Amino acid sequence: MNITVFLGAPGSGKGTQAKQLSESFGFTHLSTGDMLRAAIKQKLPVGLKAKSYMDQGNLVPDSVMIEVLEEALAPLKDTAKVILDGFPRTVPQAEALDKNQKTRVNRAINFQVPEKILISRLTGRRTCPNCGESYHLVFIPPIKADTCDKCATKLIQRTDDSEDVVQRRLDVFKTQNQGLLDYFSGQNKLMTLDADKPVTNIQSEILRVLER
Ligand code: AMP
Repeated sequence: MNITVFLGAPGSGKGTQAKQLSESFGFTHLSTGDMLRAAIKQKLPVGLKAKSYMDQGNLVPDSVMIEVLEEALAPLKDTAKVILDGFPRTVPQAEALDKNQKTRVNRAINFQVPEKILISRLTGRRTCPNCGESYHLVFIPPIKADTCDKCATKLIQRTDDSEDVVQRRLDVFKTQNQGLLDYFSGQNKLMTLDADKPVTNIQSEILRVLER
């Protein structure tokens, strides 16, 4: 497999980019946050285990997450071009990927965005609970207020996008991030991107890296 991991704070645009790259260029987009939210919706045991951590803005334990991701990767072909969005979030998660020859990470892209901007992006974010499309009250408003442009479902604010939980998520991110950056830069696999730019500019930069 060809595996690219997207690193960066919540709200740094990893999900938006991964979704577009999968829709337009055939990448397989795996978002561990989306997988957990789906598991909660379906009341699966893993969702029940994860929910309290997520609601408080904390990380779900590595042992749970590594299993979730291994299950998602297992059915993919060796030729798959995979983008991991939201995994790894800790060094042990990165090591778990690298332990298996089939899932070794090829490159890591670090999305850098100033914290003030992250907070306004996250607290203004609205999400479609049906198709997963993401909006922003100010920057990417839906055509009809509170309604998904794609499937007409009523938009929601994720419980973990409230202001206090956002701050906790950013604090948790800061405790883990440097270790991950060191891990991938030590292997010469890290590329850092200024992600405080228009979505299309960022996409071109990512494509340049992915085509290398
Ligand atoms: P996200 O949608 O990527 O912002 O993830 C939402 C929440 O899911 C996070 O705040 C964590 O509680 C949990 N989560 C997602 N991915 C991971 C991971 N790789 N490790 C631990 N927790 C995770």
